[in-house]
Amino acid sequence: MSEVLAMRPTPPEGTPPPVAVEVRGVSKRYGERQALDDVTLRVHRGEFFGLLGPNGAGKSTLVEIMEGLRRADAGSVAVFGESPWPRNTALLPRLGVQTQSSAFFVRQTAHEHLRTVAALYGAPKTAVDATLATAGLTAQRDVRVENLSGGQRQRLAIASALVHGPELIFLDEPTAALDPQARRDLWEVLRGLKAEGRTIVYTTHHLDEAEALCDRVAILVAGAIAVTDSPHNLVDASKTPSRLLLPLGRLDEEEAAALPGVDRVTVQGGSLVLETRTAGRVLSAVDRLTGLDGVQTRTASLEDVYLDLTARAANAPGGPAPATPADATEQQR
Ligand code: ADP
Ligand code: MG
Repeated sequence: MSEVLAMRPTPPEGTPPPVAVEVRGVSKRYGERQALDDVTLRVHRGEFFGLLGPNGAGKSTLVEIMEGLRRADAGSVAVFGESPWPRNTALLPRLGVQTQSSAFFVRQTAHEHLRTVAALYGAPKTAVDATLATAGLTAQRDVRVENLSGGQRQRLAIASALVHGPELIFLDEPTAALDPQARRDLWEVLRGLKAEGRTIVYTTHHLDEAEALCDRVAILVAGAIAVTDSPHNLVDASKTPSRLLLPLGRLDEEEAAALPGVDRVTVQGGSLVLETRTAGRVLSAVDRLTGLDGVQTRTASLEDVYLDLTARAANAPGGPAPATPADATEQQR
């Protein structure tokens, strides 16, 4: 954890960034269920990469195939140029893995558990307390794992993925069980790992989080990648309008509708709401007419893009069937 990865020289312009994970045409079926369908993606070294998608979309299956914990039916995966399957012992020390259902030595204290994990990897003992601190578990150092809260266990699972200082870190819904403060604290931990040059692949259903952390995201819908891009580009390319909220009485509805760039005007919750795809232009027009005091903006977010994509897929012919109770049981595994 402590040693910072050697700084690599900046590659000359036009050189493609080095690849950490290359997934090509990966498919995976569980009985009748096509969990992944011809998935192709590339994660660059040093990148913070998010895999987003509704429950059952195939996120865990995909990360577990990248980690070498599951075998793909078709396609190929290369991690640092090597196949993670069958179990590749040369790769293991370079990977940090937190799965959705982590195994613990429950009778041990947090410190003992992490020391055991560190020993498995041959990591130095000094890494144990440092990693507990990183994960915000210093106060729980001597608490038995079975007595930790859900969020604390989650953080211990993350610490277990980090203790040996891996270059590439896979985290499957690391913030799912965390309260808002713990979630923000973990964001700082993850940003710190990225700043050290590590590569992070993680799944989440928190769109705000993906937007705040990820260099690029892939949105997985029913086992297929719907889009891969930076959150910024996805939001930029989306058709979702921004909304400007004006206190009532500044402009009447007709005046507002006549402003160049305004697509629609409604009254909602004590505000005049102007929908627009050219927010800057409308804002400056409003500024000229009434000033911007009390004007609020609601810009499109990754969540809008995501909701749009997943809704479109659900409505498409042959789109995903709603999750069945059988799916729910599979999720418990
Ligand atoms: P996500 O992590 O996005 O929620 P998963 O990869 O866990 O998605 O699951 C994708 C699909 O595959 C779901 O329909 C799930 O029920 C099914 N599935 C996952 N693991 C198994 C398994 N071991 N056996 C059978 N079906 C599974
Ligand atoms: Mg999952």
